[in-house]
Amino acid sequence: MQKVAILGATGSIGRSALDVITRHPQDFKVTLLVANKSVECMYELVQKFQPRYVALLDPLAASRLRSYMSLYPHIHVLDTLDLVCQVLKSDEVDTVVAAIVGAAGLKPTLSAVQAGKRILLANKESLVMTGRLFMQEAYHSNAQILPVDSEHNAIFQCLPLESHADLGRHDLADFGIERVLLTGSGGPFLKRDPASMQLVTPSEACNHPNWSMGPKISVDSATMMNKGLEYIEARWLFNLSASQIDIIVHPQSVIHSMVQFTDGSTLAQLGQADMRTPLAHCLSYPKRCQAGVEALDFTRLGSLNFFAPDFNQFPNLKLAIDACSAGQAATTILNASNEEAVQAFLDERIGFLDIAAINQSCLDRLAKREAVDLESVLELDEEARVITQSFIN
Ligand code: NAD
Ligand code: MG
Repeated sequence: MQKVAILGATGSIGRSALDVITRHPQDFKVTLLVANKSVECMYELVQKFQPRYVALLDPLAASRLRSYMSLYPHIHVLDTLDLVCQVLKSDEVDTVVAAIVGAAGLKPTLSAVQAGKRILLANKESLVMTGRLFMQEAYHSNAQILPVDSEHNAIFQCLPLESHADLGRHDLADFGIERVLLTGSGGPFLKRDPASMQLVTPSEACNHPNWSMGPKISVDSATMMNKGLEYIEARWLFNLSASQIDIIVHPQSVIHSMVQFTDGSTLAQLGQADMRTPLAHCLSYPKRCQAGVEALDFTRLGSLNFFAPDFNQFPNLKLAIDACSAGQAATTILNASNEEAVQAFLDERIGFLDIAAINQSCLDRLAKREAVDLESVLELDEEARVITQSFIN
């Protein structure tokens, strides 16, 4: 029986993970649920899963949740990150689904890594901010990082089993691997005339053709920043150099990514665009379990298309690739700036194309900065947010 904590339990990934868990009551016990402020949604989860601990990190929301809990006096309601981290480090938790959105996921995810837990990593932003540090901590604590992001999960499934231990420390060339092909749908604006992009609305941007996801990653998919963040995520998870990662646009999202070998072979993982598949893979790894997702019916699939990304249409993608080669400071700045700019776009304070323009300006403003440890990463994150807000205003 694995004792599971879900960080971001009320979100799209959190709810998909709980859906898979519900199908296997003999294998998983939910012990900790964490979210920000969705009181009603969290109370429904409490009724269904009755975890020992539940946390809302917005203190007002936590105190509202407490007032609902008269039927569950044995359940602890937590309202601070420190208390959450204490539970994550305790024997109450074996496995952590890291699915808080954005930089807010970094501290709890990292403390679970430091405690040597099994980490099902969806929160790509934590790896974008601290890639090297994060992987080093996992190495020292012996934490197992299992990639939930569908592309990285696909790559992981295509890698030789011998490479799974010490993930991120091998040179994959030693396993006969030439490169990974990170596929991306191109989002809702793939065919859109660039001249009309500035005026797209948040609801158009969040209307992804293939996937149903939270608002931040949906906007990131529309700007293709998501693929850029995933490029950085892949660099750290699998210890890849720039020449070992290619990005391929594949509008149907049937192939979730591929690995190419020196002998000319390409291995791919295919499936429905449903995050329960990679979540089930990680939850039951190295075994397989029912995810509630049907296998593909190839007779009804139609054609699959592939082409190179257009950096003019998606300037954020280029910013992320360049930030990845510039290093941890640049990826921290870009992540922070993008998070603020995406929220401003969702709040209808800036236009769609302003997101990339603001990200570029913030990177330029903070060029030559360094971020070598967690403290400097967090400082730089904060500074980049202040500067981004001034651009937004
Ligand atoms: P979402 O917006 O649906 O859910 C976010 C969750 O994080 C919610 O439970 C929310 O309460 C919680 N949260 C937000 N701020 C918080 C804070 N300050 N403290 C504590 N909890 C907080 O997002 P999502 O689509 O589920 O994405 C979650 C993460 O998974 C993101 O990093 C995203 O990039 C990644 N991811 C998502 C998908 C997907 O299909 N949705 C796919 C791959 C990766
Ligand atoms: Mg993805």
